[in-house]
This record gives sequence, structure tokens and C-alpha cells, in this order.
Amino acid sequence: MSRLVDYGRYIDLISMDKYFHNIAIALHVRESDDGHLFTLHTYSRVPGAEDRVKGVAAFMVALGGMEPVAGAPGAVRFPCGELHERGIKRMFNEVVMLDPATPLTPKPLSVQEAKAGRTITVDCEQVTDGGWTYLVNAQGSPEGLARRVATITGGLLKLGDMQPVAGTEDRARFSCGHDHRALVGLLLPRALNVRAVIAAEEAEQKRGVLLAPSAQETPSV
Ligand SMILES: [Zn+2]
Repeated sequence: MSRLVDYGRYIDLISMDKYFHNIAIALHVRESDDGHLFTLHTYSRVPGAEDRVKGVAAFMVALGGMEPVAGAPGAVRFPCGELHERGIKRMFNEVVMLDPATPLTPKPLSVQEAKAGRTITVDCEQVTDGGWTYLVNAQGSPEGLARRVATITGGLLKLGDMQPVAGTEDRARFSCGHDHRALVGLLLPRALNVRAVIAAEEAEQKRGVLLAPSAQETPSV
């Protein structure tokens, strides 16, 4: 159990990795002089399991905008050093679901809603206080467009632990003000249907609590 302490506080678990022998991968966080450090870890002894964990960390760097941690394979940090707990959990869950052959490039800040014939895009703007703001746009039939933009913005706020921009319904920002556009690109397709995401998270959480002893000892907040 002493090893568990070294990784820091348990915050999330993928109980079955469908791309690698259904192994469990845990996400821990600890604070350091360099901000919050997240460590991906598996107890699986299946050959190649550690490489799979490193591959997931590489996805978090390339598609989530995280930074690798020198000398700590499988560890990542936000460039701002913040916790962004909801965002990191969502990112972790998203990249584990990607085919390992997926190219290591960020997702576009644009997504199609084919049925409604809409294109949703996010613009990144650096506002006067130096912080980055993300502006949601929709193109398509004007009917219900503003409401759809407000709903998707609300989705980003929920999924990424982002903050609303006062007086607007189409803007969101991170508390740190940093540029986390790669994370926004990962969240955007999910922001189209937040209810489904939250229902899936709750189901996974229940499964995780049953499987992870560490989850019972240090429940995530
Ligand atoms: Zn940040």
C-alpha cells in the first residue's frame, strides 16, 4: 500500500480498458513544487501493460494539451499546474476510449451536428486581462441556434469545470485563464450531449467503487 501513497490521491479509475486486456488504469494526483502531478497507474502484470499506460499518457499530452513530467513516465501535468479535476477526469476517460492507432494530434475545435445540419465551432480569444476565453458559435438554420449555443456552452462549463463569462451565454473560460484549447477540443463533441456523458460517468463510478480498494479508502470528491 505504500506505493499507492507515492502516487498521491486517487481520483479516477478505468475499470476495464477495452483496448488492452481489460486492465484497470487508475489516475492519481499529488501536489508538488511544479503544481499538480497526475500519475496513471495499473496493477496489471500483463506484459505490455506499462507501455499501454504510457500510451494513454501520450494521448493526454498530444490530445489534451498536458505536459509530460520529466523522469516520471506515465505522469502528466497541466501547463498551468492547476488541478482542473473535472477536466482531467473527462480527458482521462476520453483518451482511454480512443483506438491506440489514433494519430497524436489535437481534436479540431469544430464538430458537425449532422441531423440538425449545424456546424459548431469554438473560437479562442485572449481577452484584455490576459486570460483565454472560448467562444461557441453555431452555423446552420437560424431556428433555435442561440439556445443550442447556450446549451453547448453549458456543456463545456459542466464537463471542463469551466467558468461562465458574465453577461454571456456563449463563452466559457478556465479559472486559471490558461490556454487549454486542446482540452476544449476533446470536450466539445461530448458537450453536445452532456446528459449521456453524466449518466455513463455515474455508471462507471459505481463499477469503479466496487473494483478499486483505493476508491473506498479515499473517495474522490
Ligand atoms: Zn489551467
